[in-house]
Amino acid sequence: MKRKIAGWLLLLCLLATASDVYAQPLLERGKGRTVAITFDDGPRPGYVESILNILREKGVRATFFVVGRYASEHPGLIRAMADDGHVVANHTFYHNNLTALPRENVYREWRLCSEAIESILGSKPRFGRPPGGQFNSFVVEQAAGEGLRIVLWTNNPGDYSDTLRGEELTRKVLAKAAPGDILLLHVGTLSTIEALPGIIDGYRKKGFIFVTVEEIAG
Ligand SMILES: [Zn+2]
Repeated sequence: MKRKIAGWLLLLCLLATASDVYAQPLLERGKGRTVAITFDDGPRPGYVESILNILREKGVRATFFVVGRYASEHPGLIRAMADDGHVVANHTFYHNNLTALPRENVYREWRLCSEAIESILGSKPRFGRPPGGQFNSFVVEQAAGEGLRIVLWTNNPGDYSDTLRGEELTRKVLAKAAPGDILLLHVGTLSTIEALPGIIDGYRKKGFIFVTVEEIAG
């Protein structure tokens, strides 16, 4: 009987390893007293430069999930992100809800964005985030086919609605600060830029260290 159980356990381990190779688990949070700031929807001229200036001033490296078609239009901004040591990641090419697209278009969305980034930086991204956080197992599989691991978030203050002014947004983020945070912010709203210095200072005051998603994944 014992041998039978050991056999089943071995089989389960082998199956788990095989599925890990096929699609890596979603990256849902970091470890310990760390926070990864992530910015979706860029690059957008006039916003990215301000964000990069603040991050440089504060000595923080972040992760940008960029939209492929905007990346193609503004390659200089993508290079500026990479030059400052930030991670450039895939947020699809057209920013559609992937769960509502015809199946054959889902892989294309991931691939075109990765190719746009590769044509600018010389290497493909390793991380992807589906627009609106809308995904299913097919979307995850198709991302894995393009070598992408899906990254979610733990802290979403809803900055895209641009309704909270700088300090209010800062307070909302910090009220939810928790170990291993992946903070979801966006490129394209002024309130995010207003709030960012306070967000960084606030996390630091609480003893957090800033990491990129690459550092979380190891
Ligand atoms: Zn988005």
